[in-house]
Amino acid sequence: MHEFHYRGNKLYCEGVEISRIAEKFGTPLYIYSRKTLSDHYRKIAQAFRSLKPLICFSVKANSNLAVLKVLANLGAGMDVVSGGELYQALKAGAAPKKIVYAGVGKSKSEIAQAVREGILFFNVESLPELALIDQVAGQLHKKVNVCLRINPDINPHTHRFITTGRVLNKFGLDMQTAEDIFLRRSIFSNLNLIGLHIHIGSQITEPKPFVQAIKKALRLITRLKNSHVALKYFNIGGGLGIVYHREHPQTAKEFAAAVLGLLQGTGLKVILEPGRFIAGNSGILVTRVVYIKKTEHKDFAIVDAGMNDLIRPALYDAYHEILPVIKTSRPADQPTSRPKYDIVGPICESADFLAKDRILPNLQAGNLLAVMGAGAYGFTMSSNYNSRLRTCEILVEGKRFFLVRKRETYRDLIRQQIIPRNLR
Ligand SMILES: *Cc1c(COP(=O)(O)O)cnc(C)c1O
Repeated sequence: MHEFHYRGNKLYCEGVEISRIAEKFGTPLYIYSRKTLSDHYRKIAQAFRSLKPLICFSVKANSNLAVLKVLANLGAGMDVVSGGELYQALKAGAAPKKIVYAGVGKSKSEIAQAVREGILFFNVESLPELALIDQVAGQLHKKVNVCLRINPDINPHTHRFITTGRVLNKFGLDMQTAEDIFLRRSIFSNLNLIGLHIHIGSQITEPKPFVQAIKKALRLITRLKNSHVALKYFNIGGGLGIVYHREHPQTAKEFAAAVLGLLQGTGLKVILEPGRFIAGNSGILVTRVVYIKKTEHKDFAIVDAGMNDLIRPALYDAYHEILPVIKTSRPADQPTSRPKYDIVGPICESADFLAKDRILPNLQAGNLLAVMGAGAYGFTMSSNYNSRLRTCEILVEGKRFFLVRKRETYRDLIRQQIIPRNLR
């Protein structure tokens, strides 16, 4: 499943001891396995090979250039949601014709940037956005491809913060509005309305919501066909769930088995936008215990990574497995001790925790811990809160490892700041 495993009492990423990397680069730090990234990409590609889909990695899950490059080299396209992501996807060598652009708030300059770069298409989320893309395309004398993102109003049974396909969510167009737009498409003289897009949420563990959403979309596609609106692309989004704890998510194969029959024979080019599925279990966050603080009610392991480094526990109450980087044997004088710890960061917020009530071997200051499943929505959601420096990132490849992002320095904290002259 992934390339993080123990050899003896030591945790490895592929062929490298995690503790060696931590000694060399300090903590906290993110470590990614190139093999796991590639394996997960290939699992999807393999499961859907009969359709020859375009698999666009969702850049917001992990935007490190080396990670993007690994995937681009395998033929992946990119799903971007901002001008910054588009910039990075291009820097990593993704072909513009394999880039799709979603998001409810694309600005005029971001739209112009993407039109100039010649991306494959925009996934459009509202009528005013469609009008703006049409206008920008006209100004740049370009004919621009767009898919309409519809909101199929499906409950994907995932966390409410990562549900995106219900009527009360801000995403996509309702089915009727989308249909009306397709029927009136000639008024957008600079656009080709060539496809439909759905993305109903994230960390979805069963095929059913996908099947429901795809069926709804296909009914619309059929109605459009009957009205002589022929589409070319069907973008079925991302959202495949992974194992963080005790989930039993569908495999890529099971997902494909559930939806391939629906997609075959439509004649549409299928686009997939997996993010978490590819990157989630390909990365870990490594942190060092700074203090053990015992109170009457709880034992805390205070570590050097905080919610600024990995916000998922604070934001979604997300579960990440915590593993000791070096398994220590239990002290002989405490043969039955299985202490429970809250793993907490140094930030001045009660939400600053990585894990709660975890049974771990006796921890001591200096011990290294691995926060598993941190490869997606980990570093990309990190911040400088509490003026903490963002971590470095390492890519492991067999027995080798590479620094793929330097740790920030104090200078980085003040680099863009200006004290006005009158205060000097
Ligand atoms: C975030 C996002 C994805 C990726 O979601 P995952 O759950 O990481 O697979 C795909 N498509 C769109 C439009 C997104 O916003």
